[in-house]
Amino acid sequence: MRILVIGAGVAGMTAAYSLTQSGHQVTVLDREPLAGNGASFANGAQLSYSYVAPLAAPGVARKALGWMLDAEAPLRLEARVDPAQWRWLLDFLRCCTAERFEATTVELLGLGAYSRRMVHRLMQREALDFAWRMNGKLVVYRDAKELAGAAAVVRLQARHGSEQQVLDAGECLALEPALEALRGVLAGGIHTPSEEVGDAHRFCQELQRVLEAQGTQFLFGRKALRVLLSGGRAVGVETMEGPLRADALVLAGGAAAVHLLRPHGIRLPIYPLRGYSLTLPVEPWHSAPRLSITDAHHKIVFAPLQDRGGHQLRVAGMVDLAGENTSQPTRRLATLARQAEAAFPAAADWSRAKSWAGLRPATPDGKPIIGPSGIPGLWLNVGHGALGFTLAPATAQLLADMIDGEAPALDVAPFALQRAGTAQSVAATA
Ligand SMILES: Cc1cc2nc3c(=O)[nH]c(=O)nc-3n(C[C@H](O)[C@H](O)[C@H](O)COP(=O)(O)OP(=O)(O)OC[C@H]3O[C@@H](n4cnc5c(N)ncnc54)[C@H](O)[C@@H]3O)c2cc1C
Repeated sequence: MRILVIGAGVAGMTAAYSLTQSGHQVTVLDREPLAGNGASFANGAQLSYSYVAPLAAPGVARKALGWMLDAEAPLRLEARVDPAQWRWLLDFLRCCTAERFEATTVELLGLGAYSRRMVHRLMQREALDFAWRMNGKLVVYRDAKELAGAAAVVRLQARHGSEQQVLDAGECLALEPALEALRGVLAGGIHTPSEEVGDAHRFCQELQRVLEAQGTQFLFGRKALRVLLSGGRAVGVETMEGPLRADALVLAGGAAAVHLLRPHGIRLPIYPLRGYSLTLPVEPWHSAPRLSITDAHHKIVFAPLQDRGGHQLRVAGMVDLAGENTSQPTRRLATLARQAEAAFPAAADWSRAKSWAGLRPATPDGKPIIGPSGIPGLWLNVGHGALGFTLAPATAQLLADMIDGEAPALDVAPFALQRAGTAQSVAATA
């Protein structure tokens, strides 16, 4: 089939890869001049297959109220006259029950484990250079109660195959000496040796190189303005440069995907959650972490990215509900930089940080949406939220199997647009 993939972020590029391997003639379209220029550009760099628990957790609603009053909090709501924002927030709050949290965590763990297999298979098949390393991840806690809560999630995940250890403060410091500045404030941490890091933007660029060699076409700087229908079936998209026709479309447009479906009466329950990152050069005399670190107190992730071009530290965090804009408020970036530097003062030259803002395409329940859109011929690979780099290789393969009429390796019902069996379905409304 001729398949048009809309979006060249991690979701679109991995979908293009899986579909090309199945023998389809694939074209990838993006309004940006390069692959991976959206949310996939300078994200937290974590392939965190075992840290998939959704943001919608019991107790988050109460915590969020406190955060609203704190200008330095990891989460900030810029309240707007925007029904999409309020509807998303209400749906999100409905997902914050213990039952939903546990069910979603287990579903995402399965997806994460499958994604690890897909990433490793991809790296066996293709020589991809994207600063990938299996360096393990350590999530550190300053509060003993929070550590105990995290240890309970470790026990839940262990029943589903995750191998993680709960460490005390001394064990955390022994494992990662770069944590020295937090000596005395740490309660302990959770270590997952099998977690990985990589540069998502480079991953997209490398996939483009591989795919071009396999005959996949790329059209950059072209925006899909609307979906073209014939007899109720999607047959292409309109662009400023004229129509593009295909036998099937895959929508992988990240946070902007909502706009192409809205005119057809389909509401994708996706809202942009803005986050920020800092990328810093690391010199030989710096003591940067070797492991990926998450500072659970400030909800900041730190990833060492090491390759032939040098060594960098990627720092990412913050969740701002502020609509579809990628501005970088000075105050938020200053807070992120100050909190990050306080945790790792000797890790890099903090005056040389390059900042970035991106939009996590988030669903209220934290699960991506994979499969039919409600319009025949138009498929979805969207809503990967805070875990797109981690999960896209899995969702891409599951979607390719669905398009080919083959049985996907996992049950895809939990990731359908109309989530089956849930009272608070994230259903489309026609
Ligand atoms: C601060 C931050 C840190 C993060 N850290 C991590 C992490 O450590 N690990 C992890 O797994 N995930 C992380 N994420 C999440 C991850 O980056 C996203 O889930 C992922 O990049 C989403 O990929 P995507 O392909 O769906 O969207 P995008 O990368 O945004 O790609 C969508 C593409 O579609 C194009 N597009 C949209 N509409 C149109 C149109 N009409 N016509 C043509 N093109 C269109 C856009 O230009 C864009 O290039 C982080 C996100 C942020 C913001």
